[in-house]
Amino acid sequence: MAETIFAKIISREIPAKIEYEDDHCMAFHDVAPQAPTHLLVIPKQPIVNLAAVTDDDTPLLGHLVRVATQLAERLNLADGYRLVVNCGPHGGQTVDHLHIHLLGGRPLRWPPG
Ligand code: AMP
Repeated sequence: MAETIFAKIISREIPAKIEYEDDHCMAFHDVAPQAPTHLLVIPKQPIVNLAAVTDDDTPLLGHLVRVATQLAERLNLADGYRLVVNCGPHGGQTVDHLHIHLLGGRPLRWPPG
């Protein structure tokens, strides 16, 4: 897998506003926020997307979601929020490193485009 911009954020080659980090994942603010709060939660392991996930990744996926929900609580998204994972071209994925969008701070419309 070619190195993505998110791998460069993990290695600190390029800067990001990092909100959380542990041995397995990192959460940072999206550079083009679509809501008052817009974080990306990513695994440090370079998984391309949901379609590339294996059974071995199940605990890691649970951890990513739990980190996202804990960040939502810490960032006071008490009125609700949305977790989004875009997968592949039709899913709108633009960076080939699995990431969960955490969006909140305003009412979000449905259905998405
Ligand atoms: P997706 O379209 O689901 O693949 O989401 C990729 C997201 O990464 C987009 O919301 C971009 O705004 C965001 N993004 C791209 N480059 C950076 C960066 N250097 N720092 C933070 N977010 C980024």
